[in-house]
Amino acid sequence: MIPVSFLKGKRVAVMGLGRSGTATAKALLASGAGVMAWDDNEGARRIAAEAGIPIGDPMAINLAKAELVVWSPGIPHTHPQPHPVAEKAAAAKVPVVCDIELLARAKPDQRVLAVTGTNGKSTTTTLLAHVLDHAGIAAAAGGNLGTAALDLPELPGDGRYVLELSSYQLELVRSLKVGVAILLNITPDHLGRHGGMAGYIAAKRRLFDLVTPGGAVVIGVDDGPCRAMAAELSRLGLRVVPVSVDKALDNGVSAPDGVLLDQGRRVCDLKDFPRLPGRHNWQNACAAYAAARAEGIDAKTIVKALESYPGLAHRQELVAVSDGIAWINDSKATNADAVEKALVCYDHVYWILGGQAKEGGIAALEKNFGRIEHAFLIGEATDAFAATLEGKVRYTRSGTLANAVAAARSLAVSDAIPGAVVLLSPASASWDQFKSFEHRGDTFRDLVKGFA
Ligand code: ADP
Repeated sequence: MIPVSFLKGKRVAVMGLGRSGTATAKALLASGAGVMAWDDNEGARRIAAEAGIPIGDPMAINLAKAELVVWSPGIPHTHPQPHPVAEKAAAAKVPVVCDIELLARAKPDQRVLAVTGTNGKSTTTTLLAHVLDHAGIAAAAGGNLGTAALDLPELPGDGRYVLELSSYQLELVRSLKVGVAILLNITPDHLGRHGGMAGYIAAKRRLFDLVTPGGAVVIGVDDGPCRAMAAELSRLGLRVVPVSVDKALDNGVSAPDGVLLDQGRRVCDLKDFPRLPGRHNWQNACAAYAAARAEGIDAKTIVKALESYPGLAHRQELVAVSDGIAWINDSKATNADAVEKALVCYDHVYWILGGQAKEGGIAALEKNFGRIEHAFLIGEATDAFAATLEGKVRYTRSGTLANAVAAARSLAVSDAIPGAVVLLSPASASWDQFKSFEHRGDTFRDLVKGFA
């Protein structure tokens, strides 16, 4: 836990009692601050109260007496509608910040490397922390993924925090000093909460206002918004390292066909690293490589670390190989875009999909249907997905994940195609049958471990 002693004796309101809000409230209490916490959800309030966190409605108190409002980035505070508590704080001239701001103020001298982007944040953040670790540098990864900022451990003076920052967090942080900033990519996402694409890009752009003099900026330049930002930041004199998996760059880090090039010179072949499958992971690997080089780590050490990276659960996670068949858990892939990233990596796929379908369903995946030997449909999306597959891909209505695993196993074993994979990549949310995508992926893993 990070002590926030600069708030000792001060009153602080905490809005939102999920992972980051709860960690914040506990850190504040342990540091002697006066805490008043709230969540619009009654269940969350009850759990927090049981954990000894003082609960109080910020709408019912004189908010002007608070030093700060610490806002959970998950709660919309401006768009689509301003939250009443955010409006009240603004009227009372009380700053609204997120937990990352508290970490920044508590540890102003600790070096921070920060990762943002629409996709690949968690992979790149954990990959970079893994590289630092491998190089003998104390590192702790957290923020938007895994460990909440104030639950991170304290580090020795030369240690680094590797923070995954969402666009929401970036809107609520001012004091953070970032040594190396990574922006992976920008594609339309969360537009409702940012008041449109311009607002979303502006939130991502805020990361670069936080870069310290002499700091480095690593930007994926394969999409228009990021390319424009890279050009702008270069004009402003920042040290920009462009990253591409579309074309070879002689002034940055690239991997157009999987071979990682540093300023055009060959470093390693990412296709040799099975835990980083697919072009999307090449982008993540290039960005982590570029950031680690900017931190002064030599190329050889970085390559060794890329090679030993264990990968993240639920993202093309190799669960087992059994009877020559690879079982892959890609439960995090809740939309067609994410599924495509996995499908293109394999030629003979027994595909388990379904759940609560997203807008557009799986129609966009049709160009990859040739890779699919058979599909196994589960959950609410079954009829909709069956309609898209009809006449193009053989499928079975499995109903549940357990049935789908059993049916996929029996068919894949009898087909005995070399290089076959059973891929759970659902193209759907999980809530019709599971608590979360993690719960769905864990269930899949347990089922597979039952026979593999
Ligand atoms: P995030 O933390 O940004 O959600 P993750 O690293 O958890 O990203 O990856 C989630 C999913 O996003 C992956 O399973 C994959 O489908 C997709 N993805 C990962 N990296 C990239 C990337 N660089 N570009 C596009 N999609 C990606």
